[in-house]
Amino acid sequence: MTFVPPGSGWPGDPASPDTPVAHDPAQVVRLAAASRTLGELTARESVCRACPRLVAWREEVATVRRRAFADETYWGRPIAGWGEDRPEVLIVGLAPAAHGGNRTGRIFTGDRSGDWLFASLYRTGLAVQETSVHAADGQRLVGARMLAAVRCAPPGNKPEPSERTACFPWLAREVELVADSVRVIVALGGFAWQAVWPALREAGYVLPSRRPSFGHGAEVEISRGDSTAHLLGCYHPSQQNTFTGRVTAEMLDTLFTRANTLRSL
Ligand code: SF4
Repeated sequence: MTFVPPGSGWPGDPASPDTPVAHDPAQVVRLAAASRTLGELTARESVCRACPRLVAWREEVATVRRRAFADETYWGRPIAGWGEDRPEVLIVGLAPAAHGGNRTGRIFTGDRSGDWLFASLYRTGLAVQETSVHAADGQRLVGARMLAAVRCAPPGNKPEPSERTACFPWLAREVELVADSVRVIVALGGFAWQAVWPALREAGYVLPSRRPSFGHGAEVEISRGDSTAHLLGCYHPSQQNTFTGRVTAEMLDTLFTRANTLRSL
């Protein structure tokens, strides 16, 4: 088996053997739109097979594995949104890592980027533990939720434009289902910044007509009905960014402290 079967006991698996599977982009559109709850949506996200290249890659990685994890079973499926059902802070990333989320089944879990991110979330009160290493480690987000714009690990960490498009309905529907409680959206990296913009529009947010450039600390006020929210840009804590000092722990802490301030306005 090249992936964990739905409903087979993996901690936090949102799906069951009966969860409907999207086999092409049109089915993603239909199943995302028809998902009435986060539970239904995340279950469907987690079994999606709409992108042949990404399905092949995630399952190949799960079969071959990295030597350090050779004794582990890899998740090998899409990574669903994770965190609170009524979050005030929504954290949006690009895509799971081949030996991180694709191995552990939880977003930003089991890779270096996640180590940086969770350490900062813990220091700023948004997570209960300093690390996130596997799906049964007791980690929990506080007032927050995380999503990836593309839910399967892509080769070279680079999804194709068609794959971004195919995955977009999952993102848009999840943003819509949590929008009533969300006060702050943190986009981790320029791709997430670009991807979340149309998702916010679909969820009913009123956005500035000109999209501001992405940058660390970039801040945009948006509205939805009577409530306002803020979109924050944050450099991605990728290994390249943390090695070079483009992102530091202090920068992440300042950003999430700002998110905490905005969520309580
Ligand atoms: S990237 Fe998204 S749309 Fe494509 S197979 Fe994965 S979950 Fe499905």
